[in-house]
Amino acid sequence: MAKKQTAGRERLGELAPKFAELNDDVLFGEVWSREEQLSARDRSMITIAALFSAGLYPQLKSHLALGKEHGITKEEAVEIATQLAFYCGWPKAWSTFPMIQEVYGDEKKLPELSAFPIGGENTVAGQYFIGQSYLAPLTVEQIPTFNVTFEPGCRNNWHIHHAEKGGGQMLICVYGRGWYQEWGKKPRELHPGDVVNIPPNVKHWHGAAKDSWFQHIAQEIPGEGGKTEWCEPVDDETYGKL
Ligand code: MN
Repeated sequence: MAKKQTAGRERLGELAPKFAELNDDVLFGEVWSREEQLSARDRSMITIAALFSAGLYPQLKSHLALGKEHGITKEEAVEIATQLAFYCGWPKAWSTFPMIQEVYGDEKKLPELSAFPIGGENTVAGQYFIGQSYLAPLTVEQIPTFNVTFEPGCRNNWHIHHAEKGGGQMLICVYGRGWYQEWGKKPRELHPGDVVNIPPNVKHWHGAAKDSWFQHIAQEIPGEGGKTEWCEPVDDETYGKL
């Protein structure tokens, strides 16, 4: 859906009120909005091509940003510039890529959550998660402690922290809303301040609610013969009912 446009009035309402009105109400209100005839995404693509061709860079950048809102991915924007380079001029593509970088570059910018660091993408166990998770080691001395951040909908697979003696895991929830569930038991909803004591050798999963970022600090309780076994993902049916 094309977004209701107010840029004209915001930027030119005082200097050129008629132009602002035509921009917001006619061009965007009556032309861009005719999505049955041509989708907002397609309109963005042709507008980007036109502005690219004319070398109108400030407008091009605004329309790259609008195109992103209309569903054009970073990869598609790069492809558009690559193809247009042949029709409109190589240097125009050179001028456009940094704008694409700027428009899409903030994608990885994470929201401010708890006071604990978010760290980087979870490359330690991320392959056993559905959705994106982030891992920040807080300390590896005494009790190894990590801050784990889950994007909305992200959860880890069923897993077991095996140990012959000691072991297990403790979760201390610090941000958002999430879930913890032991195999065969009811899921437990988690909020900041909640503590979960996970015994060793118990199959379980933890993660975010569908509509909320979630962070918990995970403490790996030292033990003997410790090893995490990763099992099947939490299926959409089980998770979907939460
Ligand atoms: Mn666990």
